[in-house]
Amino acid sequence: MYKIALAGNPNCGKTTLFNALTGSHQRIGNWPGVTVEKKEGRWKDQTDIAVIDLPGIYSLSSYSLDERIARDYLLDEQPDLIVNVVDGMNLERNLYLTTQLQESGIPIIIALNMIDLVQAKKEHIDVDRLSQKLHCPIVAISALKNEGLEELLRQVRMQVAQQKHKLYSLYQGAVKTTLDQIMTCLEAQCAPAQRLWFAVQYLEQGGEIIEGMQLSEDTKIQLSAMRNQLTESLEDDGESIIATERYRFIAGVLADTYHKTNDGLSISDRIDLIVTNRWLALPIFALIMIAIYALAVTGIGGMATDWVNDVLFGEVILPATEHFLYSVQCAQWLSSLILNGVVAGVGAVLGFVPQMLVLFFFLALLEDVGYMARIAFLLDRLFRKFNLSGKAFIPMLIATGCGVPGIMASRTIEQETERRMTIITTTFIPCSAKLPIIALIAGALFDGAWWVAPCSYFIGMAAIILSGILLKKTRWFASDTTPFVMELPPYHMPKASNILLSMWERGYSFIKKAGTIILLSSIVIWFLSSFGIENGALVMLEASELNKSFLAFLGTLLSLLFVPLGWGSWEASVAAVSGLIAKENVVSTLAILFGVGEVAEDGIEIWGSFAAHFTGAAGLSFLVFNLLCAPCFAAIGAIKREMNNFKWTLFAIFYQCVVAYVASFMIYQFACLIESAQITLGSITAVFLFGMILYLLLRKKRTMLAKKER
Ligand code: GDP
Ligand code: MG
Repeated sequence: MYKIALAGNPNCGKTTLFNALTGSHQRIGNWPGVTVEKKEGRWKDQTDIAVIDLPGIYSLSSYSLDERIARDYLLDEQPDLIVNVVDGMNLERNLYLTTQLQESGIPIIIALNMIDLVQAKKEHIDVDRLSQKLHCPIVAISALKNEGLEELLRQVRMQVAQQKHKLYSLYQGAVKTTLDQIMTCLEAQCAPAQRLWFAVQYLEQGGEIIEGMQLSEDTKIQLSAMRNQLTESLEDDGESIIATERYRFIAGVLADTYHKTNDGLSISDRIDLIVTNRWLALPIFALIMIAIYALAVTGIGGMATDWVNDVLFGEVILPATEHFLYSVQCAQWLSSLILNGVVAGVGAVLGFVPQMLVLFFFLALLEDVGYMARIAFLLDRLFRKFNLSGKAFIPMLIATGCGVPGIMASRTIEQETERRMTIITTTFIPCSAKLPIIALIAGALFDGAWWVAPCSYFIGMAAIILSGILLKKTRWFASDTTPFVMELPPYHMPKASNILLSMWERGYSFIKKAGTIILLSSIVIWFLSSFGIENGALVMLEASELNKSFLAFLGTLLSLLFVPLGWGSWEASVAAVSGLIAKENVVSTLAILFGVGEVAEDGIEIWGSFAAHFTGAAGLSFLVFNLLCAPCFAAIGAIKREMNNFKWTLFAIFYQCVVAYVASFMIYQFACLIESAQITLGSITAVFLFGMILYLLLRKKRTMLAKKER
């Protein structure tokens, strides 16, 4: 079995190529960090070639977590061949990594991707000449349009058969001389294919790299002297010296192989003039988001969901199930389980599928045409103003689907403290499972108002930004922000299959949950709410005796905690806690608790009973609490894995719950204050909290203090 590794910069099209080659459906994104772990597949119709999709990296020498994954894989596993995917639209930057990969001693082929765009822009790349200068085969391909893939296979076959790799040194002058000297010193310790690699690494980083080798003290001193002499004579540090050499080489190579056209702005550039304009960009983004959420939650999606709830479940499935259960003379407890537990709980969640699909459709569309990449870029600009890294936005964006991959996407962040902060705050953004809660509140309490959904989204974002500012000022999170580089791919026509696939993937995982974990929780909730202890014996309760159930007992204890937030009923408390298992449970639990006994009359329609339990202020507070509090167990697990530290995981959960509690408390108390114009203990506390948060946000930065102390 031959192992072929796909390596390249973020966004150069590796995953697109991987999917085209293996026929699999890995997620394609328009921003770095989508592939955070390597994926393996089999080359279509070639039983002896395995293809590995590595995370995108800009270089092999800086060490963010995903760069390390790629680097370790290449160096430790030694694949038979690297297919270096190079974005033809950004040759200069992409070839930097190429020069490093070539030094690794592993045979390499360059897949010159995006050739369709290069041609469309009427640029010219002299592929043969480039191939000569870079001493390796180059195949021009378009991964998106499946062009050049047979030729790529042919070249791959030839290379793995020959296993030949031409090592060459791109260095000149004093750098070359020094490298040659270093290589001579390492002769005994390194295989010839790796000598150059180690010599360059040594120049770049100094001592560490040769720690593991058994060199005599004499040799070490010699090496160190060579390195010092070079850095002193060039008045630069090792890393920059090597980088300069690489760029010099690349510029030379491109000078007579690559002809740029300078015929003004492309259509894509022109769109960007407006869409990424300093003043217009954020308003445009806000408008687009509002339109999408309005369409998904109240527009088309809302209508479809109403139909599913009222007609499909209310008039078809529920009466039919009832009729069937009656006709087979089903035991009373069993029909209650089926109607009040399973159908009510699972049905309430499934009812939201149309809304989800509409939302996912539009998000996938924005992603595929290239708009989302612009947003990451824009928000980087905004985040930077608050001293936050724009890289934190990518995890956020992914978390709109599901928090688990969102949390994992934090691996692109090099800075440990920033990464930690991102892991803690990412799940503030409403994931798709929270959408039903949003839709429920909007529908039941605000007459389907369009603003509830986009507001939830912005509240999540605000919580992230404010947390960023606040946490950065503490000792544990003080750090400088890392810059964020990324390619903006030109806008292109969306590909229907990409969009439908992405929509279906996300939608399906939601449906699957409804059939498994939601179903199970619904049954448990039904059991706990339908049974109680009477005279020391387990009895099934009448619908009117709900308050004697186990669940009522547990919920009442809990509810004390939530009284200040305005929703201290035991039903709401139980629902919020059941969200820990999966956020969809919040709605299904409410459906079961409010629906029991009424099922026959108004189907699984819980809006009426919901409105009777909540005031508008309490509803908003309930929504915000559920948006911000600790995520589901799956996401908590992801936090634990990524933090790799028990205390930090606890801190994350604690912090999220505190933020949720404080935010909901303030919302509820301020809403009450406005409504009733009465000053209460609650409103005084809220004002006090508000002041304290303001103080924490505005106080001096910790880093500055710390520096002064030193
Ligand atoms: P990765 O980060 O390297 O895995 O890159 P992806 O495979 O996720 O692709 C990034 C973007 O480039 C996506 O929007 C792709 O649709 C687009 N893309 C990839 N290959 C091509 C190509 O050959 N031509 C064009 N026009 N776009 C491409
Ligand atoms: Mg990828």
